[in-house]
Amino acid sequence: MRDNDLNPEKIAEDRALDLSLRPKLLREFIGQEQMKVNLAVFMKAAQQRDEPLDHVLLYGPPGLGKTTLAHIIANEMNATLHITSGPAIDRPGDLVGILTNLDPGAVLFIDEIHRLSRPVEEILYPAMEDAKVDIMIGKGPAARSIRLDVPRFTVVGATTRQGLLTGPLRDRFGIISHFQFYDHQALYEIITRSAGILGYKIDQSGADEIARRARGTPRIANRILRRVRDFAQVEDLPSIDRHITAKACKALEIDALGLDRIDLTLLRIMIERYRGGPVGLETLAASTGEDSTTIEDVYEPYLLQIGMLQRTPRGRVATDMAYKQLGLKPPKRVETPELEFDEPEAQ
Ligand code: ADP
Repeated sequence: MRDNDLNPEKIAEDRALDLSLRPKLLREFIGQEQMKVNLAVFMKAAQQRDEPLDHVLLYGPPGLGKTTLAHIIANEMNATLHITSGPAIDRPGDLVGILTNLDPGAVLFIDEIHRLSRPVEEILYPAMEDAKVDIMIGKGPAARSIRLDVPRFTVVGATTRQGLLTGPLRDRFGIISHFQFYDHQALYEIITRSAGILGYKIDQSGADEIARRARGTPRIANRILRRVRDFAQVEDLPSIDRHITAKACKALEIDALGLDRIDLTLLRIMIERYRGGPVGLETLAASTGEDSTTIEDVYEPYLLQIGMLQRTPRGRVATDMAYKQLGLKPPKRVETPELEFDEPEAQ
């Protein structure tokens, strides 16, 4: 097996299959109901005014459908889509090149928008606000700045956490949407839809079982589905059911809650080395050998969501549920004023 079956970040196989599995219209996009209702109104209003849609910021953990939604927005607005990412735009000149070549009303999707450099961000501000870019001509004392018109366009920016964006950039988005983890029913629908596209039968028990292990994330649901299909196909099964799903997941080291080896290692280290915490993020990163950003963006959100982990002002704490998940007895806790469990941010 690969190490990253449950890592919702994109891998090469996803890219190829994303093309076929990706919903193309807003009504095919499953879940995120409130976001869809709002977007439908904003898109219709913009179309009635014959204007591009206001700039949209999408944030949430990887694999929840931010890129898919950017495609849908472009599609529904009859606009061309240009896809790039924060780290791909090295220099301000690169962005000027992109902006001056956009079709009027285009959607510019910038993935990992929090990783744009400051000089690049500064090119983006007047472009987003007034459809203008300022460029420097010449060097040294003869250098001067000229203002160019660019077409009016829509930025759809994607980021894992809203707090990663600089204030001025965040302020330029008229529409800010927060992706939630998907509930069981939505995942179930995504899985049955994807199985249909892949051309493999799945019964209710199979779709339920995959949904339970998909960590609220469509990309993971689709990825588990593809692996389970491999097992079913090799065993000559006409359709995917609960048994083959459980067998495949066991082979992939995905437990009944969808936790994988890295999640369990994180919890185990917190409990065994740090008596359940509080443990700082950097300490956790160093002890597990994972990157701290990966822990924070990829593993932690789901562990927090299902109540295995809590954030406190002094660090991460493993909950009683985490002890039970590992088959351990939770410690007797004494309520102390330092353990304010619902403080939002901590190191
Ligand atoms: P992100 O950009 O947030 O990392 P993507 O848009 O690439 O996530 O989505 C990952 C995969 O999950 C896509 O291939 C798509 O098929 C599927 N997907 C995401 N959201 C949905 C949804 N709401 N309905 C159906 N499939 C979805």
